[in-house]
Amino acid sequence: MADPFFAPVSGFDLPRFAGVPTFMRLPNVPPDHPRFADVEIGLIGAPWDGGTTNRPGARHGPRQVRDASTMIRAEHPVTGVRPFETANCADLGDIGPNPANLQDSLDRFARFFTDLRAADVKPVTVGGDHLTTLPVLRGIAADEPLGLIHFDSHTDFYHSYFDGEMHTHGTPFRRAVEEGLLDPKRIVQIGLRGTMYDREDMDFAEAAGVRLIKIEEFFARGVDDVMAEAREIAGARPVYVSYDIDFVDPAFAPGTGTPEVGGPNSFQALGVCRHLAGLDVRGADLVEVSPPFDQTGGTAFLAASILFEILAAMTAPSA
Ligand code: MN
Ligand code: MN
Repeated sequence: MADPFFAPVSGFDLPRFAGVPTFMRLPNVPPDHPRFADVEIGLIGAPWDGGTTNRPGARHGPRQVRDASTMIRAEHPVTGVRPFETANCADLGDIGPNPANLQDSLDRFARFFTDLRAADVKPVTVGGDHLTTLPVLRGIAADEPLGLIHFDSHTDFYHSYFDGEMHTHGTPFRRAVEEGLLDPKRIVQIGLRGTMYDREDMDFAEAAGVRLIKIEEFFARGVDDVMAEAREIAGARPVYVSYDIDFVDPAFAPGTGTPEVGGPNSFQALGVCRHLAGLDVRGADLVEVSPPFDQTGGTAFLAASILFEILAAMTAPSA
């Protein structure tokens, strides 16, 4: 049972449009807060898009998702899970990047997540572009490679961009495998689609043992069957969940830098998360929400809803 200190503000008590917005209306508990030691799951903003190769704006994601997440209530409509009564969840605030220095930003982020790991806090990070995932893994997977369930239109497995640049949002998982942060044989990537530069990314991934599930296979088999396989690949061992909002069709999630048409709808976007329950999820992220391209705010609301699904899965009773 969660400590009442960590209860989110209810819309019955204060209208949801009022108050300072934190993720899910949770208390703001940065690492120097006296109650930080009691946090079990920390939601973190990573306002940084230094790895973006095309349309920018993901640095504005955390603030927009915080605002949209005030729409989220306490109980999961299908499973009945009440995440905030099961685990002490808090908004840990934002990690300050250095927008003028990519490597310094990576170092700042990695230090933050190393400290979280030492404090035994599971991170749920809101990006930011997908390069954000690399320093998260450098922090939490330093001792033991993790499995990965990855929702995305793209593999993000390229070797490099722009004549040797190794750190972009198209390369985080290549670096993570090279650095021994992920076990490639326990990685599954779901939703791959769109025009390609070439097959260098997929060739590397498949040679390393990564399971690639393209969108044609996703639709042919359906959510339940695909996610049953993803659970088998993750197994009982520690796993990380990385959710790029461009997994979802841009009709439902236009507010992102690298949209690809022909993707899952918002119902399927939520449904895949329900199959994460019972896995040993050590952390998760939701990345690539770009508010300047989110004309209706719908992308940010979908992102907040996916984050609630992930929290509900992480706090679900074990089967
Ligand atoms: Mn991505
Ligand atoms: Mn992507």
